[in-house]
Amino acid sequence: MTLDVHSTLHGFRVDRAVFVKELGSQAYEMTHVQSGARLLYIKNDDDNKVFSISFRTTPSDSTGVPHICEHSTLCGSRKFPLKEPFVELVKGSLNTFLNAMTFPDKTMYPVASRNAIDFKNLVDVYLDAVFFPNMLKDPEVLMQEGWHYEMETPDAPLSYSGVVYNEMKGVFSSPDAQLERHVMENLFPDTTYGVESGGDPDDIPNLTQADFTAFHDKYYHPSNSYIFLYGDLDIDAMLAFIDGEYLSKFTATHIASEIGRQACPGSIVKTYPYGVANGEKTEQKTLHSLTYVVDDALDTTLALAFKTLTYALLLSPAAPLKKALVDAGLGQDISGDFQNGLLQPLWGISINGSDPDKQAQILPVVRKALTDLVTKGIDRTLLTGALNRIEFSLREADFAGRPKGLIYGIQCMDTWLYDEDPLL
Ligand SMILES: [Zn+2]
Repeated sequence: MTLDVHSTLHGFRVDRAVFVKELGSQAYEMTHVQSGARLLYIKNDDDNKVFSISFRTTPSDSTGVPHICEHSTLCGSRKFPLKEPFVELVKGSLNTFLNAMTFPDKTMYPVASRNAIDFKNLVDVYLDAVFFPNMLKDPEVLMQEGWHYEMETPDAPLSYSGVVYNEMKGVFSSPDAQLERHVMENLFPDTTYGVESGGDPDDIPNLTQADFTAFHDKYYHPSNSYIFLYGDLDIDAMLAFIDGEYLSKFTATHIASEIGRQACPGSIVKTYPYGVANGEKTEQKTLHSLTYVVDDALDTTLALAFKTLTYALLLSPAAPLKKALVDAGLGQDISGDFQNGLLQPLWGISINGSDPDKQAQILPVVRKALTDLVTKGIDRTLLTGALNRIEFSLREADFAGRPKGLIYGIQCMDTWLYDEDPLL
């Protein structure tokens, strides 16, 4: 089976064919002309086949509508009208991965299997779920997965419940999650990143059935989708199936799901409280975060440099920036993170086990440590160690038992979602 560039197969036009040396794989980028769906196929002899369909979901409020949609699409569909087909698949399929994930700007539905028939069945269930879910006509799905009123007994107080509502109450009970939310709303006041795609428990009950179905109608269209196929599979049969059963039912259209770029809000210092148990001490319970917006997700060299520096300066045993913060007595636990998978990635330092009066010292200590590193240079063995470590993990590609294709499928979204080359 050859896929020649510019040829069309089952409605898919082959736009590009590239051999990816690092993966030992042939990659094909395609467009389903009638529906506008994008497709990336990574062809190799890995029998752990992966399929994923993702949508660029960019909410404008914190009702958690992308997250509730993610749960609800898997609650029965046109061809699979069960209450919970997802639960049945978990029990009966030979899958090596089955889940769905809500990110700040996308929703992904990946499946993996080593068995060709099982794989095709999983693709069928997932595509039917995302394009023809029962949640659109059955308002009880939103009540179950999103939120509903609850009264245990006739005289009990009225309360809220729901799968995502309860899940997010759990998430928001963690001070780290609250801190992260505050960082995002301050750094991105004007874009989709400023709102909580998972849902803020205070806002979730504002979601109506009409807004819920409108969100699905807008974003769950092939023209707003990214289909990923990976491994040793019968591509001819798979493309014929995806086209015939699903994509041929849609016509390409423009979906306004672009992510706006946040203009720099300048340097902001904010303080927020969080709850502790009655009588619990508050000493050394403060969390600090110093976060910078790195203004280009598409510069992969810069991203790799940030990952290397984060390890060398903050995470390694000899990390000099971490040492400077510890020596200044600013906290007990220092960590660092470069977060991509956002149009504007973040680099940050977090300090746990601190106190409020340490806040003013953090920026001067960090600036001095970084200035020293710039003037005196970074220890070469430290940098070499960090580079070797990253190179080893990239070559080893051991993702703790998860299918390789799944991780590559997630990684390619780091650029593909922003209209750039998915193979970067
Ligand atoms: Zn969830």
